[in-house]
Amino acid sequence: MSINESIVFAKGAFRRYEDARVGLLTHGLNYGTGCFEGIRGYWNATERELYVLQLGEHYERLHRSARILLMKLPHTVDELCAITLELCARNRFEENIYIRPLLYKAAEDVGVRLGGVPDAFAIVAVPFAKYFDAEAGLKTGVSSWRRIDDTMAPARAKVTGAYINSALAKSEALMNGFDEAIMLSNDGHVSEGSAANLFLVREGTLFTPDPTQNVLEGITRSTVLTLARAKLGLTVVERALDRSELYTADELFLTGTAAGITFINSVDHRAIGSGAMGPVTRELTALFARVTSGSDPSYCGLSTPVYANRQVGAA
Ligand code: PMP
Repeated sequence: MSINESIVFAKGAFRRYEDARVGLLTHGLNYGTGCFEGIRGYWNATERELYVLQLGEHYERLHRSARILLMKLPHTVDELCAITLELCARNRFEENIYIRPLLYKAAEDVGVRLGGVPDAFAIVAVPFAKYFDAEAGLKTGVSSWRRIDDTMAPARAKVTGAYINSALAKSEALMNGFDEAIMLSNDGHVSEGSAANLFLVREGTLFTPDPTQNVLEGITRSTVLTLARAKLGLTVVERALDRSELYTADELFLTGTAAGITFINSVDHRAIGSGAMGPVTRELTALFARVTSGSDPSYCGLSTPVYANRQVGAA
C-alpha cells in the first residue's frame, strides 16, 4: 500500500493520507509549533496479531507536551487509544509499524506565538522495519551540539521544532563517521542520544541521567528501569553523569521507541567494555522482546492487541 492510499486520522475523521494535506503557511510547519509521539506496533506472525506498545503512556506524555505548549488535545487518553487501534485495523497492517500522532498549530498566517492560534490533530501510521542494527551496536561520538535546556525549549516535551537540536547532532555524528551522537547538556553532563535515552552499566549497577538532565522522559527508558529492578534485581541510579564515566563504563546502551535497546560499542573511538554487547544489555534486550511480542501474560499491561475482538474492515 502506498502512503497516499493509507488511512490517517485527521481533523476528527478517518481519511486517505492524500486528502489530509496541510498548507504551506501552516504555523506548525513554519515555526515548529507542535508536539508529537512515536509509538510502535509489533507484528506477531505466530498469533497473526499486531501489538501496540504502551499506547496509554504515549498519549499521557502527549497531553503533558500539549500543556507545556499551551495546546489542548481534542480527545482523552482513552479516546486516543481507541482511535489509534481503529486506525491500525483500518490499514490492515500485518507488519511492524510506527504510529505518529501530531498536535500542531494549524493557522495559516504570519506571527509566532502560541495563544489564540487554532490547533489541529492527526495520526499517521506507516510500516517500519528497524532504526538501528541492534546486533551490530553503535559507534557514537560526543556531539559539539549541546542538548536544549529546559529554560530554552523543554526537552521533556516532545516538541516538533526542538528536533532541529537532534538533527544537527545526528548529522554531525554521521558526517564524522559515527552512527549516533551523544549530547551533553549545557553544563557538560551527559544528556541523551539524538532520539534515544542513554544507560550505563558499571559493576552491575545501572545508571541513567535523571529527568532534570534535559532528557525526554522516554517510555522505553521507564520500561527498562522497571525491568531492571523487577526482573534482574539491579540497583538503578538516576543521576547526573560525567562524560568520562562513559569512557569507563562496562556497558552503554540507548533506548527508544524506534531504537528499541541498542548497545553502544564505542564513544569517541574508545571501545566500551569488550566492544561487544554486554550481559546486562543482552538480558534486558531478551526481556524487552517478550514485551514487544505481546504474548507473555506477565507483560500484557504494556501492549494492546489491534485485531483481537475486532471485525477487521467492518469499521
Ligand atoms: N529522547 C529523544 C530526544 C527522543 O526523540 C526519543 C524518542 N521518542 C527518546 C528519547 C526515547 O523515548 P521513547 O522511549 O519514549 O521513545
